[in-house]
Amino acid sequence: TTHPSPAADPAAGSAVKAADRAHVFHSWSAQGLIDPLPIAGAEGSYFWDYDGNRYLDFSSQLVNTNIGHQHPKVVAAIQEQAGKLCTLAPGFAVDVRSEAARLIAERTPGDLDKIFFTNGGAEAVENAVRMARLHTGRAKVLSAYRSYHGATAAAINLTGDPRRWPSDTASAGVVHFWGPFLYRSPFHAETEQQECERALAHLEQTIAFEGPQSVAAIILETVPGTAGIMVPPAGYLAGVREICDRYGIVFILDEVMAGFGRTGAWFAADQFGVTPDLLTFAKGVNSGYVPLGGVAISAEIAATFDTRPYPGGLTYSGHPLACASAVATINAMAEERIVENAAEIGEKVIGPGLRAIAERHPSVGEVRGLGVFWALDLVKNKETREPLVPYNASGAANAPMAEFAAACKRGGLWPFVNMNRTHVVPACTITEAEAKEGLTALDEALTAADAHT
Ligand code: PMP
Repeated sequence: TTHPSPAADPAAGSAVKAADRAHVFHSWSAQGLIDPLPIAGAEGSYFWDYDGNRYLDFSSQLVNTNIGHQHPKVVAAIQEQAGKLCTLAPGFAVDVRSEAARLIAERTPGDLDKIFFTNGGAEAVENAVRMARLHTGRAKVLSAYRSYHGATAAAINLTGDPRRWPSDTASAGVVHFWGPFLYRSPFHAETEQQECERALAHLEQTIAFEGPQSVAAIILETVPGTAGIMVPPAGYLAGVREICDRYGIVFILDEVMAGFGRTGAWFAADQFGVTPDLLTFAKGVNSGYVPLGGVAISAEIAATFDTRPYPGGLTYSGHPLACASAVATINAMAEERIVENAAEIGEKVIGPGLRAIAERHPSVGEVRGLGVFWALDLVKNKETREPLVPYNASGAANAPMAEFAAACKRGGLWPFVNMNRTHVVPACTITEAEAKEGLTALDEALTAADAHT
């Protein structure tokens, strides 16, 4: 593909921004303190503003556009479906919904063969938890402190990220535990094997003290994303699976971020050799071209609702436009070897490139990831591993990360920055040349972080 050179139109940009500031109430923001950049267009790995600046998208728009921006096959499928049938209530059988469910079920691990469609990730988590509670007749759900599961009622309580704190008053039935993370080990472990063993023992002890008969589910991100892309140690997820089986607990893997190619596989669960009872997905299923998410359900849990109605669903569940875009996305990803590309670029270009960058910069404490799912953990000091900014820093305390992000943007790179980390999460379609261009810009911008070590 060729990338159109952006035509500058600052006056149009100003008008877009003025209307935004007058009437758009933005998510997760102090309305008076934000300065949203007006965007004119996007294609492939890039998007551009009205001032003629083009950005290489190393954020994938909240780790979402796995197939890149404006993939022609997906755009055409949405247009075609719009001409045929835009909307229909969830109770009917529709060709694109049946086909999307089949394509997803064929790719999800094990016997996760029934697909419940939602409008996004948080709603998938809400329904997975509801299914687990109804299936087991138990109430509690265990989730990891270092996690993000969404912003609706149950999903935000399960989330460990500090964005949970203002909503903690309604966290009935949610218990948090520590997942494995060797670089900042909650268990003072020194090896991956120790971290794995101690994390499993901690989880088992948590269950014992909560009462195994009251625990409906354990929910984990297969590879925790927003919280720092912490690739689990070998054996951890298999150990959790075994614990769940022993106590009759439903194992939910949240692959809203990790799924559909991000880790270099259709689902990360396969890379770690585990099959959960429920798997939540969204984002990459259709790269968010139309809102879509869902829950893949095991045969056993699906059977619970054979004669007993499942109490959940929304007007737009399994929306035809969204399902048509999922069918086109999955087919294009298969035809164009996009998942394989994510694996190869990660292994051959991004991983080695980031490790070389880490050598050069005192601010880079650790490089972790796989596929097109990487994080740089930025530190004040490589020996002590003290984070470059304090946990959940805002305002002046977060200045080092803000300066780093600004340096990226000046270099034509749109970064994903969270706390003391920058995540390298480009589209799964990224080319070797684009990845190298982004790594060069990142390398330069990290000088701004080094200044704070
Ligand atoms: N689970 C995970 C692992 C996520 O990363 C996210 C979104 N970042 C969600 C759930 C929530 O998805 P959504 O924003 O589509 O509701």
